Amino acid sequence: MSTANDIGGSGKTGGTAAPWRAVVLTIFPDMFPGVLGQSLVGRALADGVWTLDAIDIRDFAFDRHRSVDDIPFGGGPGMVLKPDVVDAALAVAIAKAPANAPVLYLSPRGPRFDQERARALAAAPGVVLLCGRFEGVDQRVLDKREVAELSLGDFVLSGGEPAAHCVLDACVRLLPGVLGAAESLGEESFEDGLLEYPQYTRPASWDGRDVPAVLTSGHHANVKAWRRAQAEKITAERRPDLWAKRQAQTQH
Ligand code: SAH
Repeated sequence: MSTANDIGGSGKTGGTAAPWRAVVLTIFPDMFPGVLGQSLVGRALADGVWTLDAIDIRDFAFDRHRSVDDIPFGGGPGMVLKPDVVDAALAVAIAKAPANAPVLYLSPRGPRFDQERARALAAAPGVVLLCGRFEGVDQRVLDKREVAELSLGDFVLSGGEPAAHCVLDACVRLLPGVLGAAESLGEESFEDGLLEYPQYTRPASWDGRDVPAVLTSGHHANVKAWRRAQAEKITAERRPDLWAKRQAQTQH
């Protein structure tokens, strides 16, 4: 029985540190690495900074139709992922993941994923992500395995895989060595509780629009002050929730 696809991380290692290890449970293993195989995050995968195992839940089905889902007790539309099959897949996933890696079910009912959670996950040795499909997963296996839930936002996806892509992307770019100095994290949106200031590149004048004069002044302190003022203005206008949180934090 093939239980897992080793998708990456076998290349040269990104230093002496153990790689960050992601284990994903899905009925669509071909969706991985998918977008995670490209660009910065894909390079980090090829370099062994992180590893990705996509475990096919269907490999743990035990009937001859390889069924992973069944009708919901109590009626209603759709199908539910079976507890016994998911449990067997989770046992293998947990054994493959580093000890103490959080086990998370992507679900619209979970707390919302954000930069703070991305930082916490990136600081863990890795993560196990369970991707739901259909109407979701039988509650008993979530209870038994004490699986925490994690949502991407207040909308419903057709499956957990695109959410897993987003979570893994956000975590991996925080791992040491993934972003070069040129892409440093310091002034990014959310890193200091503010949304980012507007960015401009050449040409300085385009389509009758000039970049703000301060940015071409060469006066670093003024550039810094302008960017900070812009970041504050944008945050206050667009995200009063973030702004209020920041105001409360900076008051003491
Ligand atoms: N019946 C469920 C939705 C099922 S959608 C409900 O109403 O809550 C199918 C799968 O997509 C879910 O099991 C989950 O893994 C994933 N999914 C859907 N929306 C999501 C979201 N906002 N964040 C994370 N995962 C999501």
